[in-house]
Amino acid sequence: MRLTIGWLYPTKMNIYGDRGNVIVLARRARWRGIDPEVKAIGIGEPIPPDVDVFFFGGGQDQEQIAVSADLRGAKGEALKAAVEEGAALLAVCGGYQLLGHEYRPHAGEPLPGIGLFDLTTAAGHERFIGNVVIDSEWGELVGFENHSGLTYLGSGARPLGRVRVGRGNNGKDGTEGAVYRHAIGCYLHGSLLPKNPVVADWLIAAGLGRRSGPVALSPIKDDMELIAHASAVERAVKTH
Ligand code: GLN
Repeated sequence: MRLTIGWLYPTKMNIYGDRGNVIVLARRARWRGIDPEVKAIGIGEPIPPDVDVFFFGGGQDQEQIAVSADLRGAKGEALKAAVEEGAALLAVCGGYQLLGHEYRPHAGEPLPGIGLFDLTTAAGHERFIGNVVIDSEWGELVGFENHSGLTYLGSGARPLGRVRVGRGNNGKDGTEGAVYRHAIGCYLHGSLLPKNPVVADWLIAAGLGRRSGPVALSPIKDDMELIAHASAVERAVKTH
């Protein structure tokens, strides 16, 4: 069995350890005898038809200008079509914002998004920086946020979770992230998946399931991951 990971804009949208998410997806597949293949999808490069799981990292406003322009039209439509057909996706911060309808940075023109998630984002006056703990359908998740964008969900998007520590989507309504089909968007850098392996496995199973029907992944001993999770939560609560 093979797992194809589509890494969107690896050289432009990759901050605060985001690369770690791609490493975890590939490693947890390989530990189950599933052959991972990572396909980098840069500016001007089409969406390959065989991607099971997409990853889209964060980036500064400057990078988001070029990426937003690149996703306009056919490429964004191809990405949305892949998710509609069941492909899994994880997008973090700047990538998450560009999968909504629009991102309004501090300076410059509003950046159109592809509208995969029913949400909009506008830069606020304060930068939200710090550890985050949320309660979600995958249980307790922990990560790190660093964004000025304030994201508001529309009726077509359900939140990834409720904030327990940190600011989340907008620091007001208590929500963090968004989920649509097998696509997860969030503000959780760190990187997210090493400390929250349950989400990694959900993405792998969902992505593989697109081609071969429901997949039950063999269990892995996650001692280190769970220790890292617990210590990150403890630190988040202490520094809150
Ligand atoms: N530039 C965006 C913001 O400030 C995203 C930042 C990021 O990806 N960490 O909100």
